[in-house]
Amino acid sequence: MGTQPRPPVYILLGPPGAGKGTQARLLEERFGLLQLSTGDLLRAAVAAGTAAGRAAGAVMEAGGLVSDAIVIAVLKDRMAAPDTAVGVILDGFPRTAGQAGALDRLLADEGRTVAAAIALEVDDAAMVERIAGRFTCAGCGEGYHDSMKAPAVPGVCDRCGGTAFRRRADDRAETVAARLAAYHAETAPLIAHYERQGMLARVDAMGSIAEIAAALARIVAEPRARGEDPPVAASAEGSAGQGQGGTEGNPREKANG
Ligand code: ADP
Ligand code: ZN
Repeated sequence: MGTQPRPPVYILLGPPGAGKGTQARLLEERFGLLQLSTGDLLRAAVAAGTAAGRAAGAVMEAGGLVSDAIVIAVLKDRMAAPDTAVGVILDGFPRTAGQAGALDRLLADEGRTVAAAIALEVDDAAMVERIAGRFTCAGCGEGYHDSMKAPAVPGVCDRCGGTAFRRRADDRAETVAARLAAYHAETAPLIAHYERQGMLARVDAMGSIAEIAAALARIVAEPRARGEDPPVAASAEGSAGQGQGGTEGNPREKANG
């Protein structure tokens, strides 16, 4: 018998432009977790011309949501790979009630729950500007922004030294409005879903990237409330990281014990 490690699953919730991808990458580096972005998985499927990609491409370019059936299949497939055993940060999934239910069931089959759902709270009005200025390194995927986070050496990736960059086709201002509308209609209600489960943490995500990262690290470094093992970087520390967080209350405290 003995306790099998149960890798934690963190969810980042927030509208397009809230910084989910940037923060997921920082958590990945700091805690050795794996970032899983359904947006990235779908874009890879589109580029590869798979059946899922052919069905998803037009919807994505219009700023709509890809069907639950496709997204859930893509996510489940990816979650089955051995490299997820370190624990994952889901960035952009779940995005609908159907997806949240599918994830709950997937984890419940293994006696697991979500470790925490972290809502990145932002002003909608600022999101269009944030998104319109963003681009990523074609080599390593590092995210940048024209005014908020330009590479230290113009035209050269800070992380991998690459010199090719990409802007997403759906980051045009017209499409961003559709993506924000989809977020409010389908995804924002999931905040209440995780609040009911006692798994929600809220983070003010209008501050600097470093401030937001620090608030997220405090949440991830806490020992798991429901029998999930903490990620490796925090496991030796016992209850370290339970200081006064800058987050608005920690609903998971009541789940202790
Ligand atoms: P953002 O969070 O900035 O909108 P993503 O890369 O997460 O960017 O998603 C890009 C697009 O991919 C979405 O607009 C949507 O069309 C599709 N997509 C990604 N994840 C999902 C999902 N979980 N459910 C449905 N569609 C998704
Ligand atoms: Zn790079």
